[in-house]
Amino acid sequence: MSQTVQETTLTAEVRRALRACGVDADALSGGLEARSPLTGEVLVTLPATSQEDVTAAVGRAAEAFPAWRDGPAPVRGNVVKRWGELLTEHKADLAVLVQAEAGKITSEALGEVQEMIDICDFAVGQSRMLYGRTMPSERPGHRLMETWHPLGVVGVISAFNFPVAVHSWNTALALVCGDTVVWKPSETALLCALGTDALLRRAVEDCGAPAGIHQLVLADRGGGERLVDDPRVALVSATGSVRMGREVAPRVAARFGRALLELGGNNAAIVAPSADLDLALRGIVFSAVGTAGQRCTTLRRLIVHESVVDTLTERLVQAYGTLSIGDPREPSNLVGPLIDERSFDAMQQALRDAQEQGGTVLTGGNRVLAEEHPGAFYVEPALVRMPAQTAVVQEETFAPILYVLTYAELAEAIGLQNGVPQGLSSAIFTSDQLEAERFLSSAGSDCGIANVNIGTSGAEIGGAFGGEKETGGGRESGSDSWKAYMRQATNTVNYSGELPLAQGVTFL
Ligand code: NAD
Repeated sequence: MSQTVQETTLTAEVRRALRACGVDADALSGGLEARSPLTGEVLVTLPATSQEDVTAAVGRAAEAFPAWRDGPAPVRGNVVKRWGELLTEHKADLAVLVQAEAGKITSEALGEVQEMIDICDFAVGQSRMLYGRTMPSERPGHRLMETWHPLGVVGVISAFNFPVAVHSWNTALALVCGDTVVWKPSETALLCALGTDALLRRAVEDCGAPAGIHQLVLADRGGGERLVDDPRVALVSATGSVRMGREVAPRVAARFGRALLELGGNNAAIVAPSADLDLALRGIVFSAVGTAGQRCTTLRRLIVHESVVDTLTERLVQAYGTLSIGDPREPSNLVGPLIDERSFDAMQQALRDAQEQGGTVLTGGNRVLAEEHPGAFYVEPALVRMPAQTAVVQEETFAPILYVLTYAELAEAIGLQNGVPQGLSSAIFTSDQLEAERFLSSAGSDCGIANVNIGTSGAEIGGAFGGEKETGGGRESGSDSWKAYMRQATNTVNYSGELPLAQGVTFL
């Protein structure tokens, strides 16, 4: 192990968790540093994957593909079933790594691993339900049908804030669909990627599946670019910022590959005059402050009816005052750290911009615990009253800032909700069924996720997850998202003994 790594309670616990997941933690060393946002310390150093290694990993996944493709889907499901069992057994170990690298409180770190277990369950069921339809043919003695076939190598690029759940949404489905996977995790979440990969490798071995079906590359953005440009990668599933999506999408399109994009959100909740304010308050605080505002579905804009705005903001200021901020290993803390200093600087800049654009900071925004943890960035979540949906409100700042806007008529509120470039998650708090239905209708929220009387974050795996506009249009996880990992073929079978042509065309 490198000299830069100091032995602390955290590094010891991280090494124990790595070993429990099957990673030889003592053998790790190299030029990459795995740092913890909890304290700012280096946890472990690791070898970086070179660009050539990325190409070689794609080669191994491409080589493993034909044998994996040709096996029965329910048999492929056995690997995912075994992975789910191992994740269940090592839920607490993997959660230690998620917490150490992403800074989540314990229940959220455990929840992230639970989400992996849930998608494994879902995918195992799906392995027996890769349904195609049969349609009536317009020609006598003909059968018209669709079949779904494995696609090839899937490149999974993931973000720091759901460092392992998003990988499993993609990988559990891709594997049962007959694809092989190359995973490039976030540069700031290397250890939980190693733990996840080790558990999956064990499942592959236990089931006697081809070793190449899952490849992990611990690379930086350049490694991601290599993956994106490789013509053997049939589908690039990339989760991260809109900036990343803008770079990735045209590169994949230029080689006619497929892209599944899960990008930034700028999520809003409308609070109507009839809303149950006790329930709304809890939903708002969890969505705005959970994971220290670093979820793609974090609530960033609150659009409140002018008749209840003063009461609600007063109660929110009070609730924000009771939040315990600090090391998330301490069970009483509800708000952990920002991922790094850049994220803290972006938050401070957004607060300055908001004030210049006429906003008033009602509470929060300050750094705390700086003396105790000079290398870590803990902040008070901020609540900012804005006179209008100005430029800063239309951007996603990946930190706990909640902008409060007001409205008089529901149409105006829906206009504000939809009036940003992103389209991930949205919510309305109301007891008026007509308002709720208008919000959910085609003339209502334009987001991929629209909720009633629940906040914007905390989705379940059963529904399709993703958003519109700059969020990228991809759908992952539940519903029929599996179709993104397969190719569709239309088959016409003629058993008539004649050769009638479609549309009544005659020839020969
Ligand atoms: P990021 O865009 O900085 O990085 C995400 C991943 O993309 C990393 O693995 C990174 O190495 C890689 N990457 C960056 N540029 C690349 C390029 N040009 N080519 C190939 N790979 C590249 O994002 P982040 O800071 O890790 O995560 C936060 C962002 O992710 C937020 O915007 C958040 O909303 C978004 N996010 C979206 C979802 C969703 O499902 N919509 C889920 C989680 C996070």
